[in-house]
Amino acid sequence: MPSDAFIPLSVPHIAGNEWAYVKECLDTGWVSSVGSFVDRFERAFAERVSAPAAVACASGTAALHVALILAGVRPGDEVLVPSLTFIAPANAVAYLHAHPLFMDAEAEHFQLDVAKLESFLTCECTREQDGLRNRTSGRRVAAVLPVHVVGHPCDMDAIRALADRFGLRVVEDATESLGSRYRGRPTGLLGDLGCFSFNGNKIITTGNGGMIVAKDTALLERAKYLTTQAKDDPVEFVHGAVGFNYRLANISAAIGVAQLEQLDGHLARKREIRARYDAVLAGVDGIAVPKQAAWAEPNHWLYTIRIDAKRFGRNSRELLKLLKAAAIETRPLWQPLHRSPAHAGASSYHCDVADLLHAECLSLPCSVGLSAADQERVIDTILRARA
Ligand SMILES: *Cc1c(COP(=O)(O)O)cnc(C)c1O
Repeated sequence: MPSDAFIPLSVPHIAGNEWAYVKECLDTGWVSSVGSFVDRFERAFAERVSAPAAVACASGTAALHVALILAGVRPGDEVLVPSLTFIAPANAVAYLHAHPLFMDAEAEHFQLDVAKLESFLTCECTREQDGLRNRTSGRRVAAVLPVHVVGHPCDMDAIRALADRFGLRVVEDATESLGSRYRGRPTGLLGDLGCFSFNGNKIITTGNGGMIVAKDTALLERAKYLTTQAKDDPVEFVHGAVGFNYRLANISAAIGVAQLEQLDGHLARKREIRARYDAVLAGVDGIAVPKQAAWAEPNHWLYTIRIDAKRFGRNSRELLKLLKAAAIETRPLWQPLHRSPAHAGASSYHCDVADLLHAECLSLPCSVGLSAADQERVIDTILRARA
């Protein structure tokens, strides 16, 4: 009997030592801002991504906020952000009273379009003494913030080379890409600073949480300082700067340690889910399955198809509705940020591909715990939706 139970897009998978480690926090009273699990999580995480150290944060957004400060972004600066992403990186730029400037995606892998980035930097900016200046706005362009959208790495060597040529810092939004590799190297350390997220729908979760990594340990010390209220003297409460309460609670870190122990298993499950979808959907007229760039070993965090409405017979939103009626949750990619009311005043640079991908793409259920039977139901429902 096929079940008709709700199939969510992407939900946490709690199957390891989470209970034991959380119980240890509760039994010992170490639930809050201090405790051994924060250190353990940071050390294990750093090792996992080959970083010298890592700084746990309250969220991925908090991590991005602090990383941008450490990258030297100042009020009034511009930061180049992809239009096709979850809104958090653009918000983090706005927290600093800096300005996101939205760049387009490329249509193959949905990542930051490096050719358009280069044409923006070459044609729209001039180099001046204090850095690069956007000729139209008159503002300093301080940094580029590539996002590894749906877990597939951007072409980071090309982005790094442009950033070096034009004097930009690189803050890597690796929040969706834990476990992904770029030319054999883990994401997160491919720019000046990298940020991760452990919210409920990411590949591992701490409930809410994030991490900052970098090669430069001085930056990480500063990150630890700023995320913990910039305290110089813990007895007299002397604070050397306006810091943030962006600590990760020990009880959240306990969940994180347990989740990280299971990361390889999660990655293996994501590969299986991808392979099973590919096996059927790659042969369906009007559906394009995710493509993998030569440089990329993605974590397959989200499985996102692109629908050609003419050939498939239905557009992405019609398919979404049909799947919803069958209790299957799917989701379009995010509203492109150059259309977001939240960033209505921001500039953008020819973001037409972002619009197209937003219209045509749909992410399918891909929780680590998705059963084969449930995945069959998703596939069957898609096949039956063809008109
Ligand atoms: C999840 C995510 C973040 C951070 O999210 P938090 O909920 O703050 O942890 C940032 N950027 C992108 C692209 C994300 O997908």
